[in-house]
Amino acid sequence: MKWEDRGRSPNLDDRRARGGAGRGLGGGAIPLGIGGIVLLFALSAITGIDLLSLFGLGGAPTSAPPSQQELQAEEEQVRFVSFVLDDVQGFWQETFVQSGIDYPASTLVLYRDAVESGCGVAPAATGPFYCPTDLNVYLDLSFYDQLRSRYGAPGDFAQAYVLAHELGHHVQNALGTLAMSQRSQQTQPGSANQLSVATELQADCYAGVWAASAAARGIMEVGDLEEGLNAAAAVGDDTLAQRTGRIPNQETFTHGSAEQRSRWFHTGYETGDPNACDTFAQGF
Ligand SMILES: [Zn+2]
Repeated sequence: MKWEDRGRSPNLDDRRARGGAGRGLGGGAIPLGIGGIVLLFALSAITGIDLLSLFGLGGAPTSAPPSQQELQAEEEQVRFVSFVLDDVQGFWQETFVQSGIDYPASTLVLYRDAVESGCGVAPAATGPFYCPTDLNVYLDLSFYDQLRSRYGAPGDFAQAYVLAHELGHHVQNALGTLAMSQRSQQTQPGSANQLSVATELQADCYAGVWAASAAARGIMEVGDLEEGLNAAAAVGDDTLAQRTGRIPNQETFTHGSAEQRSRWFHTGYETGDPNACDTFAQGF
């Protein structure tokens, strides 16, 4: 991606220096109880990873706050996510304005190990997520190492896709789609997973719509589209199941298969039109 270092985004909230043991949150360790956290995030995290299996009952991950050197070593990464954050939000703001709708800016919270959000406390194992209550996107930068090494999705545009997907949830929140989906999940529990998949695939499609704008503005490079498509496939429910040695079961999918995720990202990219992202009406 042809990105420029424009410094830090005004919509960045850097909480990395607090470390993961709840410093800055009143002193004690963040109580990472199991019940409260997981379900709230099922909709909005980048992956449908089963937190119970990852996190177990082992209690909170604790770690010392990072040194200044460690934080400094990540500064280029911070500048990169700042650029993508501002670019994606600039695009949606313009799109909203054209439709006469206000775009409420989302804040990107950078954290390490665990974070207290308006949706509850989350361990980094949650992966990047969006919280509709406080309008923030939460990201532990170490996820990007995992994306490359564990998920097999390298490249700066893979990272941009992840952020654009979470901001896609913010767009859904601003348009009322997220609330509609959550209400429907409550009234039709039997369709809850399908509604979740529709919500996630729409966020993927919105990420593709942004990517189309990035391409039109000449900031995408050869290979970027493939990095995005590959990343979307890498966080597909079937890919994740296979990686952990489970047999994929479509009925339990919450985010969509690799094929569906990359296909909807591509639909957004090909059309550049958010109206083409009606995963609820079209089926998937
Ligand atoms: Zn999502």
